[in-house]
Amino acid sequence: MASVISVLGSTGSIGTQTLDVARMHGLKVTALTANSNIELLEKQAREFQPKMVAVLDMGAAAQLKVALSDTNIDVFCGEEGIIKAAEEKNCDTVVNAIVGVAGLLPTLAAIKAGKNLALANKETLVAGGKLVMKAVNSYGVKLYPVDSEHSAVFQCLQGCPKGSLKKIILTASGGSFFGKKREDLENVSVKQALSHPNWEMGAKITIDSATMMNKGLEVIEASWLFDCKDKDIDVLIHRESIIHSMIQLKDNAVIAQLGVPDMRIPIQYALTYPKRLPSPVKELDLSDLGSMSFYRPDYETFSCLAVCRDALRRGGLYPTVANAANESAVEMFLREQIRFLDIGDIVGEAVAGFTDNKDSFDLDDILAADRQTRIKVREKYGHNNY
Ligand code: NDP
Ligand code: MG
Repeated sequence: MASVISVLGSTGSIGTQTLDVARMHGLKVTALTANSNIELLEKQAREFQPKMVAVLDMGAAAQLKVALSDTNIDVFCGEEGIIKAAEEKNCDTVVNAIVGVAGLLPTLAAIKAGKNLALANKETLVAGGKLVMKAVNSYGVKLYPVDSEHSAVFQCLQGCPKGSLKKIILTASGGSFFGKKREDLENVSVKQALSHPNWEMGAKITIDSATMMNKGLEVIEASWLFDCKDKDIDVLIHRESIIHSMIQLKDNAVIAQLGVPDMRIPIQYALTYPKRLPSPVKELDLSDLGSMSFYRPDYETFSCLAVCRDALRRGGLYPTVANAANESAVEMFLREQIRFLDIGDIVGEAVAGFTDNKDSFDLDDILAADRQTRIKVREKYGHNNY
């Protein structure tokens, strides 16, 4: 069980819920980080009294330094500041709740500093899974999944002998546009895409849920966490988000993990493993729910899911490229520069057009593939204005 934590991305949806868990179980917090939301970061710092805080944005960091000048809390800035938080010497566990591939370097820094990781930042594993898993093994640290589906699989696997897993069944809510076809999605607004039926999350992952890119990223994430191939991971639409995922064993027994949709369960499990401690999360009442529904995913309308599977099968840097194209496309969609359906087209084009794949690659190759993909996407679509 964790006792002293650093929370990277503490001002976001996962970050604030992590601090709820820390508050409830008296975990010490030694570092907090944000991109630019210094109002909330200051509040968190005053409550948890960490040794340090870091802010990516230089100007915001300078303001926070002034605001916290009556305390002993050190304020750092930029990527180096965030990496410092990942390496903070007092902490045993780093919670990575940063959004996007920006979480990759802090993840690697935490592992190299010998910290256990509670990982929400799925883009870390999509873009750099090979390097991250290799580092986890060579530094002998633990990697606990926070993503609800992967936490569910991890929970289901407890007590299953090694080698008994046949298949992972990742559940998906279907997002804001379940049941719609391409023609229904031509003119959907940012506001419509941001209204998720079951979960309150950051903007990027909510759009990823609407396109089902999120499930594609999660298939890749699962392949690294549980050492599986694309063919061993099924996706099942389950509208109610009560079954958080399932595993099928060699004897065809299926084990599922259920609970009300509340991220504090997987966050807490990642921080208190193997303990099961009390939680403020509501109890699940299945008789209240009455029934649950299941459907096959629509790979044609939600092409991102198919493209991610394709990228995973191709291997190498293809998942990095799919992720980078998606991050760029989602940013542009949120700024209303492209339409909703363009996101899937952009991710598809990026993967189909990538010719520089390598079987053996290092961090520089990952960062270069990420950067070049973003440049290409922005060159082609960045001037649009709908
Ligand atoms: P949010 O957008 O709510 O929060 C992101 C956090 O990261 C904020 O603290 C933000 O700071 C900070 N941040 C943003 N950009 C950068 C950057 N470039 N460098 C450093 N810090 C940055 O995201 P979520 O909490 O929703 O998601 C975080 C991660 O967890 C994502 O990878 C997501 O896919 C994953 N996840 C989220 C779930 C959820 O329920 N929200 C469920 C499962 C997985 P600031 O506030 O200053 O902008
Ligand atoms: Mg998830």
